Amino acid sequence: MSSLPASLPHPTPLDVLGQTFGYQQFRGPQQAIVEHVVAGGDALVLMPTGGGKSLCYQIPAIVRQNAGHGVTIVISPLIALMHDQVGALLEAGVAAAFLNSTQSFEESSQLEKQLLRNELTLLYAAPERINTPRMKGLLASLHERGLLSLFAIDEAHCVSQWGHDFRPEYRSLSLLHETFPDVPRMALTATADELTRQDMIERLKLEEARQFVSSFDRPNIRYTIVEKTDATRQLLRFIETEHDGEAGIVYCQSRKRVEEIAATLADAGIKAMAYHAGLDASLRQQRQDRFLREDAMVMVATIAFGMGIDKPDVRFVAHLDMPKNIEGYYQETGRAGRDGLSADAWMVYGLQDVVNQRRMIDTSEVASEEFKQVMRGKLDALLSLAEDTRCRRVSLLHYFGEDSQPCGNCDNCLNPPEVWDATEAARKMLSCIYRVQQASGISFGAGHIMDILRGKSSEKVIQYGHDQLSTFGIGAELGEAQWRSVLRQLIAKNTVRVDTEAFSTLQLLPDARQVLKGEVGVLLRAQALGAKADRRKRATKTSVKGLAEAALNAGALERLGRLKAWRAEVAREHNLPAFVIFHDATLRALAEQAPQSLQDLEGISGMGVKKLQAYGAEVLRVCAEPE
Ligand code: ADP
Ligand code: ZN
Repeated sequence: MSSLPASLPHPTPLDVLGQTFGYQQFRGPQQAIVEHVVAGGDALVLMPTGGGKSLCYQIPAIVRQNAGHGVTIVISPLIALMHDQVGALLEAGVAAAFLNSTQSFEESSQLEKQLLRNELTLLYAAPERINTPRMKGLLASLHERGLLSLFAIDEAHCVSQWGHDFRPEYRSLSLLHETFPDVPRMALTATADELTRQDMIERLKLEEARQFVSSFDRPNIRYTIVEKTDATRQLLRFIETEHDGEAGIVYCQSRKRVEEIAATLADAGIKAMAYHAGLDASLRQQRQDRFLREDAMVMVATIAFGMGIDKPDVRFVAHLDMPKNIEGYYQETGRAGRDGLSADAWMVYGLQDVVNQRRMIDTSEVASEEFKQVMRGKLDALLSLAEDTRCRRVSLLHYFGEDSQPCGNCDNCLNPPEVWDATEAARKMLSCIYRVQQASGISFGAGHIMDILRGKSSEKVIQYGHDQLSTFGIGAELGEAQWRSVLRQLIAKNTVRVDTEAFSTLQLLPDARQVLKGEVGVLLRAQALGAKADRRKRATKTSVKGLAEAALNAGALERLGRLKAWRAEVAREHNLPAFVIFHDATLRALAEQAPQSLQDLEGISGMGVKKLQAYGAEVLRVCAEPE
């Protein structure tokens, strides 16, 4: 039931791409994936967020349904986002629907009838639905009639406890391959570390499936990680200087902090809202809708927000607290710039973040020791990324098993951090930790160790007689901030551990020995210097928006304004986000090309057959309108 002209009974994938979605070319591995799945093969698709996974199952669904294979069942974890995805498909003229718990018995029955008549191309359902008796019955009936075309399991990493958002309901998906072994299956995810990948393959029985692993690079995203000094002020300055009037997401760890930051941003005149699991479900839904639908909204959220947020024009993702691991960081930052235009991934972090994350792992009562060990390793990897003086992208991609060259689009490439030889400082710190432990028989925390190094006769220092130690005052030449940086980087290098089960005391690790003996040198980034250089360069950077709109002449700019207003109107009428009607990139192309006829509209990216029919005349009118 697609809207393709009758003269094309068997459209090829490329036909569908152009006619239904209005795109001229497949991106990266899309074509190979689509062809493999159309032919009935199983597939595991690993592609970064924004890479274009949806088309990888939507196009096979359309082609296979046209060839008489029936419906594609899409399993997706969040009901909230199914509405918009189905809305976008309907806009493109594809018969799609979703099953959810808010539907009445009548509505569900209606859908079931449509399915049995082979009238639907895609059906979206949450994993917990799959396991209900009614759904199992429906799937069996469809299968009997040869109308079960394909299972597409989106966000497939949710099946693995090693992934960053394990959902137990995903485990029930084993039902699919067990009950319907002959129905092709594809699993898609943006998480690709080896452990999760293996687990996914095993749990979803995809050993025989062909694997399609794309490059995980997101070249349009600029990575920046800075030292946390005053997080709120740093964030305000970042938004005001780089992303004024643009949409973004700010991640914080706690609900309380989310509320505080949202209030602070709002006070500063930024359109900001809070989002976390402690809020009422309807309020959350309402805020998510506003974020999707309105321009220039900043969502301040815990990681409860974001999965499946397919908003293409998020211009920045900011982390005020450090995530748990690189997978989480990459997934969260990946929500920026899905439209391919420049975007920022910006994070502030400090010693406290390390201690907090470490404590969460150590004190977890549900996790096994094996699990904790894996989580500690993952946290350490993120820490090394934060402390790295080399290209962030090279480090990130290396983590996902990819080799690459310095990118020229991260903080370290743009403003190479000053590096100083901290071998001596590191030795002083390590020997101080050692001496204190030896002298007192117990370990102490970072603050105390730094007091001793800097020769501060604090009450505690006097109390323990640590002013008598040979290491008292040997590090007076460095300030506290510098010592913190030394300590963080020693932690990142696995020479010191923060024992969160023992008052965050510092413990030496075996690798400390080589540093202590002077066998291994330590080069550290000079944070303070780096930060200054950063500000200098940033000041001259034209904002993303400035660049994009500067390229348009005055007439085009006016057209763009009118087109945006028109789009907002249509989106409101259809109760859909504006980008579902047309992407910014499509509006920009229209504004630039000033089309005069329907023919002129063909070939504009994002202008499929159905949209041309539905909106073509309107678009021409809006473009021609005198101001
Ligand atoms: P993912 O699910 O991998 O995060 P999406 O499927 O949401 O990514 O695609 C990201 C964006 O890229 C969407 O806006 C989509 O319309 C667009 N897109 C995908 N494939 C193509 C293509 N071949 N040509 C142009 N745009 C594309
Ligand atoms: Zn780089």
